[in-house]
Amino acid sequence: MAQEPVGIFGGSGLYELLEGAEEVRLDTPFGPPSDAIFLGEIGGRPVAFMPRHGRGHTIPPHKINFRANLQAMSQVGVSRVLGPAAVGSLRAELAPGSIVIPDQFVDRTWGRADTFWDGPQVEHLAAAHPYCPELGDLAEARGRAAGLAMHRGQTLVVIQGPRFNTSAESTSYSRQGWGVVGMTGYPEVVLARELGMCYASLALVTDYDAGLEGSPEVKPVSHQEVLRVFAANIDRVKALLSEVVAGLPELRSCACLSSSTPFPRSAS
Ligand SMILES: [Zn+2]
Repeated sequence: MAQEPVGIFGGSGLYELLEGAEEVRLDTPFGPPSDAIFLGEIGGRPVAFMPRHGRGHTIPPHKINFRANLQAMSQVGVSRVLGPAAVGSLRAELAPGSIVIPDQFVDRTWGRADTFWDGPQVEHLAAAHPYCPELGDLAEARGRAAGLAMHRGQTLVVIQGPRFNTSAESTSYSRQGWGVVGMTGYPEVVLARELGMCYASLALVTDYDAGLEGSPEVKPVSHQEVLRVFAANIDRVKALLSEVVAGLPELRSCACLSSSTPFPRSAS
């Protein structure tokens, strides 16, 4: 039996990870995905890569067709998805350059199509533990072994964007005890789970969001700063992705598939 590809949603700096990539254009019952899927290999293991914002980064977070993206991944046989992304930190100890693997999310988005279950069949996803613990454990262990600054047990707040937080919003989230802020982590994670897929977010900290309480020297984030820090740390993200792909067990032993009724996958 051929190995199924590992799905990766990521940015432009990650194309060159793939060896011998073949571009596959797909349509889905939920409309067109952000871009083609690039089928290739990392270290001899099949990988399906899709640029989440489209090539050239032309689709803002609130316009991404997450349902189509996940369906396209399902059409090429993906059951496990890694979601690298840039995030802002809400805590001094989660410093820029470190990588957070969230265990929880808080959804502060609005208006995004965030379920496949639109009726007539009614299903309610069990979302108490939305991320795959097996993928998370593997990424944490491999990242630490590679000398990366890894953080676990954090909550990712997903905001609508495209604007960044106000200082009041950022302070409020920080006081809730939440860890990092991003714009794309939701609904990617729950749509993956609705398809019975495993999902882990690999969140690279690029900034301290709107600033740090009690640290007036920390400047609020800008888009240029996010791009600069992400580019400076892209090799860490690549290294981690390669390590996780290489270390994935052949079969899943987590409960991601069995924890809810999987939405039927569309045919390729
Ligand atoms: Zn899983």
